[in-house]
Amino acid sequence: LLMAYDPAKRLARLQVSLERAVVNARMIYEVLDLKPRQADRPDARPLVVSDATITFRGVRFGYSENEAILKGVSFTAEGGRTTALVGPSGAGKSTVINLIPRFYDPEEGEILIDGQDIAHVTKQSLRNAIAYVSQQPYLFEGTIRDNIRYGRPDATDAEIEEAARHAYAHDFILAQPLGYDTPVGENGVTLSGGQRQRLSIARALVRGAPILLLDEATSALDTESEQAVQKALDEAMSGRTVVVIAHRLSTIVRADKIIVMQGGTVAEEGTHEALASRENGLYARLNSLQAPAAGSTGK
Ligand code: ATP
Repeated sequence: LLMAYDPAKRLARLQVSLERAVVNARMIYEVLDLKPRQADRPDARPLVVSDATITFRGVRFGYSENEAILKGVSFTAEGGRTTALVGPSGAGKSTVINLIPRFYDPEEGEILIDGQDIAHVTKQSLRNAIAYVSQQPYLFEGTIRDNIRYGRPDATDAEIEEAARHAYAHDFILAQPLGYDTPVGENGVTLSGGQRQRLSIARALVRGAPILLLDEATSALDTESEQAVQKALDEAMSGRTVVVIAHRLSTIVRADKIIVMQGGTVAEEGTHEALASRENGLYARLNSLQAPAAGSTGK
């Protein structure tokens, strides 16, 4: 019986990871998709962005019925500031991110951007306001230029180059055999993890969107790449409303606000200093677990 049980469990796990991969692929395509396929409500209006403040109010959501993943999530990601989502695996961090471009709609509660319920705005205007940088940036078949332009199809060559410079990608691009016209993807040149990250950041920058959703990489890059990616991210994050699934202590410590999630709820929120000094707080416990590996916590 045990023998029969185990493969079934493995299959179930595979099923979940396949589903998640599909969602992640959808995320990349659809955030950048300028014409969402689903129809808007007849009374939908374009989103009017002022400072791009995002508010979750009592959001409940599950991917399927009878499976609550977010159980009443409320928080505000202030406009132009960085909000870091932290918490144990499965807490619902990616799910929070998935709801912002409306890949899914809450079952209860609402999500507002500058006071407008995103369920009532056109998807195109919503997604135009959002750029996304994933853990594993996807490169399409095509040239480096095509891959950056995917962020905004009407971007000029000059705008693409400017985005690449800000993403610390311009120099390595020029070092490729055909510069910006070098093919990448399966049949093109192989780029390092850090280079792919920087192209993906350039793609987000050329989009010029006020909101940046970021799924920070967990896997380590070599030190030089790491520094270049960090500088590129700093450029991309500056002046934008950033919601980041944060894994690095340095990102978490610098965030304007940390949202600690656990079991589909917001367990705590505050700055690193405030949360780290809270006795018996979840963050304080997580932080002390992470500290030896990550070095000094700055406390
Ligand atoms: P991690 O750090 O491991 O990514 P997380 O905090 O981001 O975790 P979520 O990815 O939001 O958590 O997952 C919360 C729960 O929702 C998990 O039980 C997960 O298996 C489930 N889940 C996530 N995405 C999907 C999906 N597309 N379809 C069905 N279930 C999903």
